[in-house]
Amino acid sequence: MLNRPKPNKGESLTGYLQRVAQANYISSHELWRWFILKGKHYPQSSMARVIDFVPGCLLDLKKMTCSLNINKETILLMTFQEALSKFYPYGTSETQLLSSKILSGITLQTRWFCPECLEEELFYKLIWQVKEIEVCPKHKVELISCCPRCHRSIPLLDVKSKVGLCSYCNSSLADAPRINTTDMDKSRCDDWNYLLGVNDNFLTMGSNYKCNFNQILASKLIYTACNYQETYSKETLKKSCFNKNTQQVLLQTARGTRVGSRVLHIDNFLNLIRLLRLNIEIIPKINVLTSFLDSLLSQKETIKEKISCIAPWCKSYKKPGSLHRTLTSVKSLIGGENLKYYLYCNECGIEYAIDANTGTLIERGYFINLAWYKVRPLLLENKTLAQVALELSQTKDRIRRCCIFLFANSLVEKNNIPFNVPEQHEDSKLEIMLEEINKGVRAKGFWRNQGWIYNEFLFYWFRSDVQVAYIQRKIPREDKRIDKLQKQERVLEVLNNLLDNNISITIAKVAEAMSVCPETLRQWEVLKINKAKTEQKSIRHKIHT
Ligand SMILES: [Zn+2]
Ligand SMILES: [Zn+2]
Ligand SMILES: [Zn+2]
Repeated sequence: MLNRPKPNKGESLTGYLQRVAQANYISSHELWRWFILKGKHYPQSSMARVIDFVPGCLLDLKKMTCSLNINKETILLMTFQEALSKFYPYGTSETQLLSSKILSGITLQTRWFCPECLEEELFYKLIWQVKEIEVCPKHKVELISCCPRCHRSIPLLDVKSKVGLCSYCNSSLADAPRINTTDMDKSRCDDWNYLLGVNDNFLTMGSNYKCNFNQILASKLIYTACNYQETYSKETLKKSCFNKNTQQVLLQTARGTRVGSRVLHIDNFLNLIRLLRLNIEIIPKINVLTSFLDSLLSQKETIKEKISCIAPWCKSYKKPGSLHRTLTSVKSLIGGENLKYYLYCNECGIEYAIDANTGTLIERGYFINLAWYKVRPLLLENKTLAQVALELSQTKDRIRRCCIFLFANSLVEKNNIPFNVPEQHEDSKLEIMLEEINKGVRAKGFWRNQGWIYNEFLFYWFRSDVQVAYIQRKIPREDKRIDKLQKQERVLEVLNNLLDNNISITIAKVAEAMSVCPETLRQWEVLKINKAKTEQKSIRHKIHT
């Protein structure tokens, strides 16, 4: 490199590379190609995001340090890697950091900028790419998302990218109209300046507890919410500023009993420390007392470990730890019982629930109590369907289902079944069924569409492996979908309200209005919210110009 411009404080790496390219009269992608890591694809604008995240995954940092005469730390300081690293132990690999979900969804995929800043000094700041930063802290003007002339969004690092210019029409971005605002949250900027700066890791802890990073962070938050008491007490946490759901999530995270491997997302993390009115720089300094940790971790929810499958034919029968939570943990009132959460056995596919009041395990269907304990002995005596139904005061349909269940799982012989059933399972049909389940097709439509008769369908449907596949499938259930529809309508309502009242739309604000966590909201409604944001921007634009 002939010309080696110095990075500016707070500059983004994609922006810096554009300046270097310009100074050396080459295109941004030529420079990118020059620094590309061996074995990586040629430059693609869609990959530019990675450069601002974990640049070592795409670029040869050694080559960069030599050619540009800057050290590696300076390069990383221009990226989100600094923020990411604060949540991971020292030495975590770059690929691991890149696949981290902690910062997912918090940055913008196209360039945002403050026209005033660009006019003062021509470089792009990294903090402008953080979604929740919407106002320039220095100039109190709203950050702009598109070219003032052609209104197209600016790619992060395009072939033709030049700092301060639109890559489509070459207009100067510094000419964009200023939209003054008083709606600025300074603490957000402080938080992000801290996160993006060289500061202590959040996982620093005095004691040598063998916790993973999520556990440490959650413990620190619980400890703070409990006013740094010597021992953990449920009552103190209950009185804290955290809502019930948050308390649950934090406890499960701290104790490592959380379902799935969800991490504490930075949005949640920032929300919680803001709720606690905690300065972010305090986090590394919180040393959770060993006595507190001891009491927190020993009061573990052991219910999952204590209970086990109660289906006598199951390989996991009475083996503790054989039951798993289903992802639906909604509280519901079924027949007056207050069910706490749902479980299933991943061996036999039987579904259970825990009664919240008594803590006992209840089968959600009737295959153990009815099919195994009552119907099976009668079938072994070769009774007819009508006889069994009469004797057990059950409908014939229910008894028929019990019979098919027992035969499908080889719990009785074919000659014990008092009606016609298929000889055995056919692999091809089983495959079709599993495939349909993974596609999200529901049971009811399936057998009709496939032209199967009902009994035949049940014969496959009741197989333990099919049941397990059905429970583990990722499609939300119907009741959840209805719930989702209602929520979607509510989101629109909230958005319209914010638009009407000219209140700046942020995910956090919408989440607050709906009392859901921002991360959940982001998962289903980010497009809608972004659309409303753009709409708001253009309305404000019109007012100001
Ligand atoms: Zn500015
Ligand atoms: Zn343009
Ligand atoms: Zn089982």
